[in-house]
Amino acid sequence: MKILVLNAGSSSIKYQLIVIPGNQVLAQGLVERIGEAQGAVHYQSADHQIDEEGVIPNHKAGLEKVANLLLDPEKGVLKSAGEIQAVGHRVVHGGSYFVQTTIIDDRVKKVIKDLFPLAPLHNPANLAGIEVAEKVFPNARQVAVFDTAFHQTIPEVAHRYAIPNKFYEKEHIRLYGFHGTSHQYVSKKAIAYLGNDKAKFISIHLGNGCSMTAIQDGKSIDHSLGFGPMNGLIMGTRSGDIDQSVVLYLQQSLGYSAEEVANLLQKKSGMLGLTGSNDLRDIESASAKGDPMAQLALAMNAYRIKKYIGSYAAIMNGLDALIFTAGIGENSDVIRQLVCTDMEFLGIALDQEKNKIRSKSIRTIQHPSSKVQILVIPTNEELEIAEQVYMKVKGN
Ligand code: AMP
Repeated sequence: MKILVLNAGSSSIKYQLIVIPGNQVLAQGLVERIGEAQGAVHYQSADHQIDEEGVIPNHKAGLEKVANLLLDPEKGVLKSAGEIQAVGHRVVHGGSYFVQTTIIDDRVKKVIKDLFPLAPLHNPANLAGIEVAEKVFPNARQVAVFDTAFHQTIPEVAHRYAIPNKFYEKEHIRLYGFHGTSHQYVSKKAIAYLGNDKAKFISIHLGNGCSMTAIQDGKSIDHSLGFGPMNGLIMGTRSGDIDQSVVLYLQQSLGYSAEEVANLLQKKSGMLGLTGSNDLRDIESASAKGDPMAQLALAMNAYRIKKYIGSYAAIMNGLDALIFTAGIGENSDVIRQLVCTDMEFLGIALDQEKNKIRSKSIRTIQHPSSKVQILVIPTNEELEIAEQVYMKVKGN
């Protein structure tokens, strides 16, 4: 089955055309800067690479460009649009309504729309992607894969906030969680690799956005992001955990508007706020040259991850494996080492040599004395979406 996976953002569309079973990627690419003065379309297949600049007024124009490239008689990979049997859409927020991958109909689109206030940056773009794909690929099944779905198994004791009940019951304020597709993908890989579907895992997704999930029996039981994607770990530009009093102080004493606070905590904080860069590679090289702020930022980053490892080991009453994934988790031996140092009490001991090996494959990097396995697993959200779409469409 040829499945087109779409990840529509506010001004971009990432896409991959994948054949399942077999996991063959026929083409992939990105449409960027939609609606801006100058946009771009990137396309890569086994034999061709295309990078085109030009105005892309809206998502429909962007997706039509993608369709034209896929169907191009010379450089394309399809003979007709009808070859695409399903389009899998990454949808960021599914609220409490969607616990699994769902075939899209008018009711599903309405719920995605009703959830705009909970994900104002993402859900409108995701819905735009769906509506455009329905027109461009009218014969394909449209399927939604929700970032929040994997976390719907988090029990009430963990997903409720201690505020008056009406905010939960009427306003649906609770922990939802994000990056679910990535956490689900790496946890399935870890279960297969270790041959243990009852294991207690902590998956640590460290990219531009960062989050951790406690996983037991293959299910998410707690997670560091919450109602929105700001809580928990220190991220590229987001602060992660911060005392709510700081928000009140910024507004009540320093005169910040709600919008300014949101901008500060989402776009100007985290590693960027501490060091001036949100790219971990720059921060690591500054730290290696002795920059004290870069060293402190790395130490703070790892310290926060350690605190979550400790709390998740406590709530699971044990720990079988840590999983590092995403851009930083897969590539930064520096962060992995800082996180795993002085963790013998929890049975975590890193092998320094294995940690330094660079590889694109799943691997373990613990010392033989370690009780806990330490896995590095490359994430692949597009493949996870394609596999889920395949199972859903096949079963219908
Ligand atoms: P992602 O959002 O998963 O693409 O991850 C982006 C983050 O991964 C950025 O902060 C990059 O600096 C970081 N990253 C990518 N490659 C490396 C590397 N070789 N070493 C350290 N950090 C890296």
